[in-house]
Amino acid sequence: MRSATATIRSAALRANLAQLRRLSQGAKVVAVVKADGYGHGLERVARILSDADAFGVAAIADGQRLRAAGHQQRIIVLSGPDEAADLAELRRLRLDAVIHHESQLRWLAADRDPRPLRVWLKIDTGMHRLGFAPERVREVHERLLAMPSVDRDIVFMTHFAASDEFDNAVTAEQIARFDAATQGLPGPRCLANSAGVLGWPAARGDWVRTGGLLYGLSVVAGKSGRDLGFEPVMSLSTRLIAINRLRRGERVGYAGTWECPEDMDVGVIAIGYGDGYPRSAAPGTPVLLGGRRLPIVGRVSMDLATIDLREAPDAHVGDRVLLWGDALPVEEIAERAGTIAYDLTCGMTKRVLFVED
Ligand SMILES: *Cc1c(COP(=O)(O)O)cnc(C)c1O
Repeated sequence: MRSATATIRSAALRANLAQLRRLSQGAKVVAVVKADGYGHGLERVARILSDADAFGVAAIADGQRLRAAGHQQRIIVLSGPDEAADLAELRRLRLDAVIHHESQLRWLAADRDPRPLRVWLKIDTGMHRLGFAPERVREVHERLLAMPSVDRDIVFMTHFAASDEFDNAVTAEQIARFDAATQGLPGPRCLANSAGVLGWPAARGDWVRTGGLLYGLSVVAGKSGRDLGFEPVMSLSTRLIAINRLRRGERVGYAGTWECPEDMDVGVIAIGYGDGYPRSAAPGTPVLLGGRRLPIVGRVSMDLATIDLREAPDAHVGDRVLLWGDALPVEEIAERAGTIAYDLTCGMTKRVLFVED
């Protein structure tokens, strides 16, 4: 059996939801579980967080999986219908749809389905990805209210482009545009993602939509999830499967990018980019063996990586090696690989064994 194992700590997930609730001060929480629960497993995360007020997904198929697992709360499809035919599926599964574009309004207007659809009206306050321009909000809201098959309890939402930069005035401007566009209109408000909850009290609204912090992933550059008061949920580990005595001057791995500076032991661990460990991890990226940080040497390959064992003379074949987790922040590995922690947890492949503790 391959040894690459992702361990998911359910207590940490639950503690992170509780911490988000405290910070959100009464706002309801949409637990964002898109991309297979940021790589932690959609059904698993939803089961552990079954008391979340709602779930947020990027695909109708994920909504279908959550309904099949028996979850009854609201499920918001964050980009709504991609085509007119999606409307029937959204209604059948009782999914909420984010409505962000004129084309979706036309599909809705032409739709004669009597089952009420709950919609979240998305306003583009500066992200310039999805959403109606602020000056169109009143008109769009009126059109939606006039549609018999649209539920009248419409949620106003927007998304931040830089809420992780706590001193960046762009977020304050987005909040001001949102407030102006929705002023006097009845209905709940939803602005904040994880970083919005942490750094922008004015953005709390009636609902928050949080992903990263639920999983204990940092949303602030240079900090770990734990630095921000959240517990890492995933740890990735594998085993040492070979120890090789190499001589000074011998080269390790594809293209021989690393040369032994002296006679030394090099360890081989059963992890590679075929498991989702980043090929871009720079030489020197640490792993943890028996509490000691040891550097990766040479290139990460599909199934294997190699580590410098000079600081671990007592290492044995079969020892567990931690790639990231509580004692080795995934943020640090992401930084070495030129990416963010979200990218690493989302990248776990099917051959990684998932266990819960
Ligand atoms: C992914 C996503 C979120 C969650 O963002 P985090 O930074 O992970 O909390 C919230 N809203 C929308 C629209 C998203 O796409």
